[in-house]
Amino acid sequence: MNTILDIRDLHAGYNQAAVLEGISLSVSNGEIVSIVGANGAGKSTLLGAITRLVEVTRGSIHFDGVDITTIAPHRLPAMGLVMVPEGGRLFPFMTVQENLELGYFSRRSRQDAKDRLEEVISLFPVLAERREQLAGHLSGGERQMCAIARAVMSRPKLLMLDEPSVGLSPMMVGKVFELVEALARHEGLSIVLVEQNVEEALELSKRAYVVEHGRIVRSGSSDELRSDPALQAAYMGA
Ligand code: ATP
Repeated sequence: MNTILDIRDLHAGYNQAAVLEGISLSVSNGEIVSIVGANGAGKSTLLGAITRLVEVTRGSIHFDGVDITTIAPHRLPAMGLVMVPEGGRLFPFMTVQENLELGYFSRRSRQDAKDRLEEVISLFPVLAERREQLAGHLSGGERQMCAIARAVMSRPKLLMLDEPSVGLSPMMVGKVFELVEALARHEGLSIVLVEQNVEEALELSKRAYVVEHGRIVRSGSSDELRSDPALQAAYMGA
């Protein structure tokens, strides 16, 4: 399997405050990888560093074989790297369909844009029923689904989700994660899932990394990590 994301010895932070202190990780094509850890561990900072919104002070990030360590952030989506930020950040006064249309920025034909909209909506049945509704009127779970749908409109290669389970009921988390899994399978997408909801994340992913204080302290298969007593005690309320 080819590597889609390869991060080596990444150091990053805010002004003088170092947050990430030597993170190395990789994601293969078509793989779902979780990055889990407690509040403040540095997970969002890691996504910020990958998407070039947080300053990288050392190390390298390769995406799809290209060194993106110093690339301008606005170039990443067109290269196939897209992030759904925490909360989704939809445009609340636009309809679901209009939000989805904003996610399409390919230079293909108008017909392709229309076809893609229908294809994405068919993958998200909840949105099909609500396409004319204002995004601000969606429930938390529907909003998260709409944000994910918008992110895949331009057929990215790697989708990074920042805490998609935040604020959702356990049942809704299950639904959103099921949808993410189906989407990854249907589109051959690679996914980086950042979560505090460790148990659910490990069920969805094949492999995971545990971040504490800006470093990776554990990594391995999700099954192996899920049955680890130390992780259960620290993150899974065991
Ligand atoms: P959470 O789930 O709470 O978002 P996290 O693992 O994503 O946790 P980060 O948000 O990456 O953690 O935060 C890591 C550290 O970086 C924290 O100590 C936080 O206070 C600090 N931090 C985050 N954003 C900024 C910022 N804009 N300026 C300065 N420090 C920041």
